[in-house]
Amino acid sequence: MYLVGNWKMNGQGAFATELARAVLREAVRMNVLESHTVICCPPALWIRDVVQICAGSGIACGAQDVHTHDSGAFTGNISAAMIKTAGCDYAIVGHSERRKYHAETDELIAQKVAACLRSDIIPILCVGETQAQRDSGEYLDIIAAQLTAVMKKNTELSQKVIISYEPIWAIGTGRVPAAPEIDKVSSFIHTLYQSAGFTDISVLYGGSVNPKNCAEIMSISSVNGVLVGGASLDVEQWTDIMQTATSKIR
Ligand code: PEP
Repeated sequence: MYLVGNWKMNGQGAFATELARAVLREAVRMNVLESHTVICCPPALWIRDVVQICAGSGIACGAQDVHTHDSGAFTGNISAAMIKTAGCDYAIVGHSERRKYHAETDELIAQKVAACLRSDIIPILCVGETQAQRDSGEYLDIIAAQLTAVMKKNTELSQKVIISYEPIWAIGTGRVPAAPEIDKVSSFIHTLYQSAGFTDISVLYGGSVNPKNCAEIMSISSVNGVLVGGASLDVEQWTDIMQTATSKIR
């Protein structure tokens, strides 16, 4: 199972390094890395520190975004090639906060996925619907469109993409879809990929995952892990989530 912590734009001073040390200590204590993949996604500024702290432990590091190009005149941006050099193996791409605050389109996100794959970075592609799209019943179409854009552009390599289903209305709100609903969407994503000829893709769930609800979410057979925002910033909560995963070896 994948346990991904999206630290977003949080933490000043030694916060990220202290958090990384605590995650490492607890992950090793619980032996979680023997059967699960733990990925920390700190702000870009602290990627190197987190990589250094976790080196050799099995804990992986991911970026929260990449640019579509490998290098060039793109002030303020960071490329997949650069994060690879810094020690990342993963990058979150297409998070709803990037789609909303940076006007990222499905086409742009497909290019970012391609940039990741060019640099041997595994993209963690976020898809999901707004509350209005869920209410109107069109959410599976929205998710299919988000995925199809990426599959079309990355016909040969889409297999390496990890998908995270993140209903936008569940992110940071404390609201989580019922387990059968999560299963419905994650199964839909698996089926969509299989019908395009890809097998063995991983589908995560993200959106208000916490120590209380993670056991049920991790028990859904179509879900291959969790992407966690708020609770990944709190050592106690993140430790509980890792602990829960240790009892769910599959
Ligand atoms: C996220 O933003 O990716 C996320 C899952 O956030 P939270 O866990 O805080 O809802």
